[in-house]
Amino acid sequence: MRDRVPDLSIARVLISNDDGIDAPGIKALQRALKKIAGEVWVVAPQTEQSAAGHSLTLRRPLRIHKISKHKFCVTGTPTDSVMLAVHEVMKDSPPDLVVSGINRGGNLGEDVTYSGTVAAAMEGTLLNLPSVAFSLVTPDEAKAHWETAEAYVEKVLTRISGLTLPRGVLLNVNIPDCPIDQVTGIEITRQGRRKIGCELLKGHDPKGQPYFWIGAQRDEDKTLKGTDLEAVSRNAVSITPLSLDLTHRPMMKTLKEVF
Ligand code: MN
Repeated sequence: MRDRVPDLSIARVLISNDDGIDAPGIKALQRALKKIAGEVWVVAPQTEQSAAGHSLTLRRPLRIHKISKHKFCVTGTPTDSVMLAVHEVMKDSPPDLVVSGINRGGNLGEDVTYSGTVAAAMEGTLLNLPSVAFSLVTPDEAKAHWETAEAYVEKVLTRISGLTLPRGVLLNVNIPDCPIDQVTGIEITRQGRRKIGCELLKGHDPKGQPYFWIGAQRDEDKTLKGTDLEAVSRNAVSITPLSLDLTHRPMMKTLKEVF
């Protein structure tokens, strides 16, 4: 089992994302890791897969395209990419660490269940590899502070080097979109509340048929202390340990009394 975050200087790191192989965030992630990691591999979706969640492609074939020696794109989801990376592309030299992102936009609160960025790290975790997801909480991609995100990827990964992650646990890191000197610190948080899709747009196509478009509006609570949302609202970097085991243990007790 490879559950310990490795010594980065000798680590083989697999990078993936959900914004696609050409996204600015994955380039920032590569720049950060090339400074600190022994070997950097990129296996990422060919096209944007945001909100793909932890989906696997089962009803069509997948292709892997080699871009350069350690860089590949996959015609599938983030989960497909990590699975193909570990079982095919890197099968003779498996990664020691999986890093996903840097996502264009936060993955806060309930976002983690829709997020392809977090799902890539979930897949790494399921393959018993220490895995970390990074997102930049940017409202405006054109003005995004990728340099802040890049610097904090380096800081966070260096700090967690040597740490053992329990089986089924990954780290979800959200970085505020501000100049680096305005970051107020690194805080350990829990998932807040941020329900996407409260706004549903309705229209008619040229043939007069109705269509629906899920909007970006969110019902979120930035005031709840100790949450990811509250921390990034104060320009802190948020680290939330997420468990793949979604069981709600107190409810088991309640249900056992009923049944
Ligand atoms: Mn995305």
